[in-house]
Amino acid sequence: MKLKTFKGGIHPPDNKQWSEHKAIEDCPLPDELIVPLSQHIGAPAVACVEVGQQVAKGQEIGAAKGFVSVPVHAPTSGEVVAIESRPHPGGASLPAVVIRADGEDRWSGDLQGADPSSLSVEEIVEKVRSAGVVGMGGAAFPAHVKMSPPPEKPIRTLVFNGVECEPYLTADHRMMLEETERVLQGVAILQYVYGAERVVIGVEANKPDAIALLQKECADNPVEVMPLEVKYPQGAEKQLISAATGREVPSGGLPMDVGVAVHNVSSAAAVTDAVMLGRPLIERICTVTGPAIREPKNLRIRIGMPLSHLVGVCGGLTEEPGKIILGGPMMGFTQAGLDAPTTRGTSGLLLLRDEDVAKSPEGPCIRCARCVDACPMNLLPTTIAAYSRRDLVAEAEEYCAMDCIECGSCSYVCPACLPLVQSIRYGKAAVLAKKRNS
Ligand code: SF4
Ligand code: SF4
Repeated sequence: MKLKTFKGGIHPPDNKQWSEHKAIEDCPLPDELIVPLSQHIGAPAVACVEVGQQVAKGQEIGAAKGFVSVPVHAPTSGEVVAIESRPHPGGASLPAVVIRADGEDRWSGDLQGADPSSLSVEEIVEKVRSAGVVGMGGAAFPAHVKMSPPPEKPIRTLVFNGVECEPYLTADHRMMLEETERVLQGVAILQYVYGAERVVIGVEANKPDAIALLQKECADNPVEVMPLEVKYPQGAEKQLISAATGREVPSGGLPMDVGVAVHNVSSAAAVTDAVMLGRPLIERICTVTGPAIREPKNLRIRIGMPLSHLVGVCGGLTEEPGKIILGGPMMGFTQAGLDAPTTRGTSGLLLLRDEDVAKSPEGPCIRCARCVDACPMNLLPTTIAAYSRRDLVAEAEEYCAMDCIECGSCSYVCPACLPLVQSIRYGKAAVLAKKRNS
């Protein structure tokens, strides 16, 4: 049977063999955890503890500021030893709460779970908000905002993202295999919240064990487990919706415009913890992998663990890495070193050798149109990039620069090695700046 997919896209080597068969391991606690107050799209949280204060695991240490914001919580028990700017995975130094672990790992007594069937939709959404649940596929958009669509945009179809199309990453794969019940409880809770008529879990066909297990577990309920073609970026929101439902989100639109909401499978598991156990999002599964790490692993990490700690737990480096990436190689964030801490969006830590990093010299565009064929958003990457490089902001906008999802497919296929996605990202920032100033 032909597997469903989207138009465009690329087929990079998936390189998942390093960690796909490694069972999840609990990462031991470091002495000190650095919890950034900015870990999500929207307003950063504001510290609500003081230096010297003792905190319990799961206690709120940063309060949400506004609707599009979430609180942050202590990942273990201990003492707040600093509230100051620290290296952030995004590149800058940003405010963080630093906790010296006391080794007791003692939960706060205030956390209360509930039977979801005893709660109203509003009560569930509030539990998800106060637990700080965000999209865990990388975007880190607050889940409670997505769970509150306006009445004129009802969600008829709920799609769960178990695609994990980024090369190397296997965290969601292991989550679906090893924590299936947590995932499916979250799926049921979210179906209840939205009142969705159709529920689909999309999984790339390179995870046949996860597909078979989910299909078996969903045999007696209406959840559809859909194998999808292995193609990057199959897990991008609009491409997943296209593959799973046949609907196209319009330019500048949102999934709710076509009656769809998308959540990551790991986010579904976090919703289960938030509602049924009252536990905030203080840990996640993270793949530490790549040719420059001695023992690739899928680790259950706490938010705020320094990247250097994860490397140590995985046996250290085989050599000085040529590139350090948080997330996958296509859309992850390059790191200058290992000082930054993990956040709720840290799906992977990828350590590449010098020889794994392509360094071909740039040449002139040969008008081959490979970038056009690869673009999953039907854009003209070479044109937008050229306008962006020349600061022709209105022209870049006219060619729909803002529709670019920064997937990097165009750069990947370009035989002239042009940094197309970097140029387009620059153009998008210029379009936004122009809008802000007008
Ligand atoms: S233009 Fe944007 S969306 Fe299209 S392939 Fe390039 S990075 Fe991806
Ligand atoms: S893939 Fe590269 S060389 Fe080919 S048209 Fe696009 S920018 Fe030009």
